Order: sequence, then C-alpha cells, then structure tokens
Amino acid sequence: MDIASIVDDIAAEMKAAPHRGRVADYIPPLACVPIDRFGMAVIMADGTCHLGGDAEEPFSIQSISKVFSLTLALGAVGDALWQRVGREPSGSAFNSIIQLETEHGIPRNPFINAGAIVVADVLLGGNEPGSAIAGILRFVRTLAGDETISIDESVAEAEHRTGFRNFALASYMRSFGNLLHPVDQTLRVYFHQCALSMSCVQLALAGRYLMAEGRNPATGLSVVSPQRARRINALMMLCGHYDNSGEFAFRTGLPGKSGVGGGILAVAPGVASIAVWSPGLNEKGNSQLGALALERLAARTGWSVFQPAGPSTSSG
Ligand code: GLU
Repeated sequence: MDIASIVDDIAAEMKAAPHRGRVADYIPPLACVPIDRFGMAVIMADGTCHLGGDAEEPFSIQSISKVFSLTLALGAVGDALWQRVGREPSGSAFNSIIQLETEHGIPRNPFINAGAIVVADVLLGGNEPGSAIAGILRFVRTLAGDETISIDESVAEAEHRTGFRNFALASYMRSFGNLLHPVDQTLRVYFHQCALSMSCVQLALAGRYLMAEGRNPATGLSVVSPQRARRINALMMLCGHYDNSGEFAFRTGLPGKSGVGGGILAVAPGVASIAVWSPGLNEKGNSQLGALALERLAARTGWSVFQPAGPSTSSG
C-alpha cells in the first residue's frame, strides 16, 4: 500500500474542497485563521512519516489537549480519577451544563469541558497554576520529542476573557465539591492547555504512544501501560467528538479527539498516529474536512479498530 500517495491525494482533494465549514469565531485569534488551510501527518509504527498540505503549520490544538491532560492525571492519581469523572458519552455539546445538575457535579467524561476542568483541577494538585501548566507543556514536548512546542498566550488570555460558560461549569462543580481549587486557578490551567500551539506533525508525534500500546516508539520508554493506552483510545472513540462522536466512529472506525481549532488526533492502533487540521468546523464544532480526510484515509487504507489488517473490502 502506498501511504505517501494516499496522503498526497487526500491533501490535494481537501485543498480543493468547496464546503469547508465555518472557522470558530468566539475569540479573535481563532477567527482570523485562514479557512483554506489543510494539513495532514501520518506517522507509522516504524517511524515513517507522511506529510500532506500545511502539516508543519502550528494551530491551536484546543480540546485535543484533553487527551494529554487525561494521560497526565491518570499518571498522578490513577483510577481514583474515575470517582470524579465518568466514562460515558455525553450526547451533549462540549460546553453543556445540563447533565451536571442531575449527575451531582460529576461530568460524563474527561473530554467534555466539565470533565477536562476536573482533570485540570487534579493536575493542579495544590500547586501554583504555573507549575501545572509547565508540567503539561513539558509532557507534550517530551512525547513529541520537540522542545519548540509552545503555548500561545494570546489564545489563553482570550479564552480567559470570554470563557463565561467554563467559569459557570467550574463554579457549579465547585458547589458540588468536585473542584478542590479556586475556579480561577483551575481554569488558568485549562485555558493554557487549550492554547497549546502545535502542527500536525508535532501532534501525530505526540500521539504515538496511543498507537504503540503506551510506549513511545522512538525511545522505547513506557508512557502509560498497554491497558491504559487502550482505555484512552476507547474514550476517544466514544467521547472524542462530543455529540458527533457516533458519527465520527461510524465514518472512520478510529479513535479520535477533535478541537475547536480544527485539529483532530486519530489513532490506528498498532499502525499509525494521525493528525489532520482544517479550521472550518461543522455544525457540531468538529473539523469538517479533517473528519472527511480521515474517513477517506480509513477507506483507502482499510485502517479501522474493527478491521485490524488488510484493505477495505466493502463500502456499506
Ligand atoms: N477552549 C475551548 C473551550 O473550552 C475548547 C473547546 C473545544 O476545542 O472543543 O471552549
């Protein structure tokens, strides 16, 4: 199978695609990202790297950061995390507050905003926000093997200035006792992780441990146990695209986590770590062309957690 030309073809198709969705406009640094961008990076288990389009242009990874913060929080407190955050798809929008009332301040999963805010609270662990933020940045740099990855302070500041819903979610959970630190401190961590700026290549490199049973294939070092890597993948598959998660799983058959900056990190376990980016979003807030590109990649390679090897045999 010629992955390089599959990636080239998809990148060319996406560059020319007429329906690109709408760029997020809730903060100026996202609103001004050109809608014509498309990037794709596929890193194979043997380290081979295939790039297409704007694969080396950094963008705001936003909620994709929730995968890395979850990984860190599980490392810090282990399965005790699941007393404070659930593991069920929400079927609701990323910033919904509705379920929190009936479910007593316990968010459905770590990939909706409320869940990621609890995860950020765990990462604070009684320290200053700055040290938790530095820990997240250090972790992502180590995963990607790239010290140039940075946090865009203008994005973090704009998130803080406009994040009224996130303040509401955090305050509400604090009223249930599910936030241990002051709301402002926890959200400082959350807003900064969302403001991580990474390219598709950096993101796909950072996601390698999820395709490789928890190990960084470049260093051979264990990031998480094989079981934990599988479980993070399971959560990505079921909850990675908010109330669009079923649709994404149906179309791609791969675990994936989207961000409102238009990125998606997807994993073909044992085969490849994949990142795509196109800033135009569909009506559910997920990258329109990113999902389409992954659907085409899965169809042309046969990669799917439901079909571990071999080419695709049916289109139904
Ligand atoms: N920073 C965004 C928020 O909390 C993240 C949303 C997303 O990427 O889906 O509103």
